[in-house]
Amino acid sequence: MGKQFIKFKGFTNVECEFYPCHEGVKKEFNCLFCYCPLMERECPGPYKVFTDKYTNIRKDCSECSLPHDGIEQSWRFIQMWIATAPVWDRTPQSSEKIKKYGQLVKTTFDHKDIEWATTQVEAL
Ligand code: SF4
Repeated sequence: MGKQFIKFKGFTNVECEFYPCHEGVKKEFNCLFCYCPLMERECPGPYKVFTDKYTNIRKDCSECSLPHDGIEQSWRFIQMWIATAPVWDRTPQSSEKIKKYGQLVKTTFDHKDIEWATTQVEAL
């Protein structure tokens, strides 16, 4: 049905005092995933690992633009990874991990789920 139903997939808040908070975004900036849903999952982003003041191991995602690059593109990216990627093992990012989990997401995600979600919204 087109663009009018894209709203649930994201938005750009140009009035945010932190906008644009990440560099390297090439398409429409998606602010919907300001707190990335993949923080506790394996992901393909260029995160660094640090220990916070409560001694929790966390991701520093300053250099990642994946949840923000393009409304449609970033929405699809998050749907695929959140549905299929395992819980983050709290180890640093590596090309081996990206390859392993990228392959897993690619082979296990059912693309019909995305079509289903879109048709549900279009039917409203
Ligand atoms: S590295 Fe990117 S995709 Fe991964 S959790 Fe951080 S913001 Fe999300």
